[in-house]
Amino acid sequence: DNLANKIAAGEVIERPASVVKELLENAIDAKSTQITVKIEESGLKSIEIIDNGEGIAHDEVALALKRHATSKIKDVDDLFRIRTLGFRGEALPSIASVSELTINTSVADNGDESGTLLVAKGGEIIQNSPAPKRVGTRIKVENLFYNTPARLKYIKSLQAELGHITDIINRLSLAHPEVAFTLINDGREMMKTAGTGDLKQALAGVYGISTAKKMIAISAQDLDFDVTGYVSLPELTRANRNYITVLLNGRYIKNFLINRAIVDGYGSKLMVGRFPIAVIDIKIDPFLADVNVHPTKQEVRISKERELMGLISQAISQAFQPQTL
Ligand code: ADP
Ligand code: MG
Repeated sequence: DNLANKIAAGEVIERPASVVKELLENAIDAKSTQITVKIEESGLKSIEIIDNGEGIAHDEVALALKRHATSKIKDVDDLFRIRTLGFRGEALPSIASVSELTINTSVADNGDESGTLLVAKGGEIIQNSPAPKRVGTRIKVENLFYNTPARLKYIKSLQAELGHITDIINRLSLAHPEVAFTLINDGREMMKTAGTGDLKQALAGVYGISTAKKMIAISAQDLDFDVTGYVSLPELTRANRNYITVLLNGRYIKNFLINRAIVDGYGSKLMVGRFPIAVIDIKIDPFLADVNVHPTKQEVRISKERELMGLISQAISQAFQPQTL
């Protein structure tokens, strides 16, 4: 029901960037190859996500707004081997409960079935009608937190919110070089990736071509882990860790120890208190990772963490051996 959705929203949707993250993950799950994010006033006025993915069938759109109706967790084993990004079936209901939501979606190759236009306010569906067919899904979220003033009060600056949104789009762009992402804020294009599938080109879209040119490929494998990625030359440092992106089986994660292993790999080459730009892509057996630690799905527990740290540090220090530079 609506109260449960609002409570869930408090957990999962803390700011405009949370909405962007959940909607982008859905668009990626739907196999989109082009995703445009349009925001106004850092997402507080509106967030619109336009994708060219599989779309939602007409009789399933309203269902998608029901909590857990779509959860992809079918049995306990799934909890430990989650492959798709979404698995809880509560993002859309949560977002809908604290905003005005418009979904315009069509399924390709679905015979004569039309598309759908659904409008909800505070989680109540006020329109659900057939609409002309077009490719993919457009979801627009307006007046976020209009009915949760406490949440709204906690949001301090538009600049900070825009920063959070850019951050999540950057991370997802690096996790999905095969998808072309565009971010437009108040009519101005903020970033754009090519969607060629090449990680280095995704880096160029996110951080600029000249930065991407100063990033070096790394690669290391053992029986448990396969680590690849790009790290910046030691000269290209930043004042904080925000430019380090760690991907685990394609999912963006936060892990303090892995960040430390990356910095350790540079040895004395980095200045104290400075951090590299890096993307580290770790592939492991899903049984060795537990992604279900936190509802926002970014905290992950990894078995054999020490082994992984060693492998990452070693891969980076090897990349900066004098003979390889
Ligand atoms: P979850 O992603 O955990 O399944 P969500 O609440 O995020 O739950 O989304 C509910 C369902 O709506 C998804 O499982 C998916 O079937 C559908 N859906 C949401 N967004 C899209 C989209 N952009 N394209 C296609 N289907 C979508
Ligand atoms: Mg989802």
